[in-house]
Amino acid sequence: MTPIKNHILQLQELVHIRDEQKMLKGDSHLDNLNSSISKMKSKLPQDVKISFDRLAKKSPIVIVPVSSGGCAGCGMHIPISLIQTLKTKDEIQYCPNCAKMIYFQEDAPKNLTKAARRGEPIKVGIARFSDSLLMLPNIKASSTEEVIEALAGVLEEKGFVDQSNQLVESALEREAIMSTGFENGLAFPHVRGVEGGGLTLALATLETPIQFNPASKDKTNIVFFAAIPATASVFYLKLLVGITKSMQKETNKDKLLAAETQNELWKALVRVTKATIK
Ligand SMILES: [Zn+2]
Repeated sequence: MTPIKNHILQLQELVHIRDEQKMLKGDSHLDNLNSSISKMKSKLPQDVKISFDRLAKKSPIVIVPVSSGGCAGCGMHIPISLIQTLKTKDEIQYCPNCAKMIYFQEDAPKNLTKAARRGEPIKVGIARFSDSLLMLPNIKASSTEEVIEALAGVLEEKGFVDQSNQLVESALEREAIMSTGFENGLAFPHVRGVEGGGLTLALATLETPIQFNPASKDKTNIVFFAAIPATASVFYLKLLVGITKSMQKETNKDKLLAAETQNELWKALVRVTKATIK
């Protein structure tokens, strides 16, 4: 990937982090993040900066990949000549249909989602984003990296993503910017821009709490890991808010922690998120 696209992707990620933090903890602690965002914006060419701001006003998704010939923002087919330009030039190009910035993605994961089988009941609530197969109750892990490896591993094993090692790497890069470990035993590591399937969530509870967030006074024992396609970022924010709302009740956390099998953990998760995730 060419440098300017990388730069914009990082900038978009910071903007997403700011949106998440605003929703979850309010405005008060965002000075550093705001100054990083301004600094990154100031390095963009003037016309690109103006486009970025204009697009960001409409939607938090400013730049999207082109994979399998289509724009990940709107699904529109992208002309071959434009794809050639994306591959060869370090210039920002725009989708002719939805006007988002686009870049070429070389190795999009192919196998992200289980296609819904015919005759299956329509899924509601948390079941739209996760599955009993993606529950890891009571695992032994001693570091942030180990938990993320276990969660990315189960996503790959069950056919929801390809290349879990890349997912682990991206998730740890994201943790390095600002930890997703909260002060109440919860952590929400995630990777954005995982194309090819839907927003997918895996959950682990830990036998022994770990120092997931190096800056937090609390240890972590409940970890939600999400693979997020670029266009599902807004859904992810809603999901995050739904889960944190449910987890404000200590008894709900206890229900997750008490589960000993995959099925028990899945049932507990469905039960405690029923009211907060529609
Ligand atoms: Zn588009």
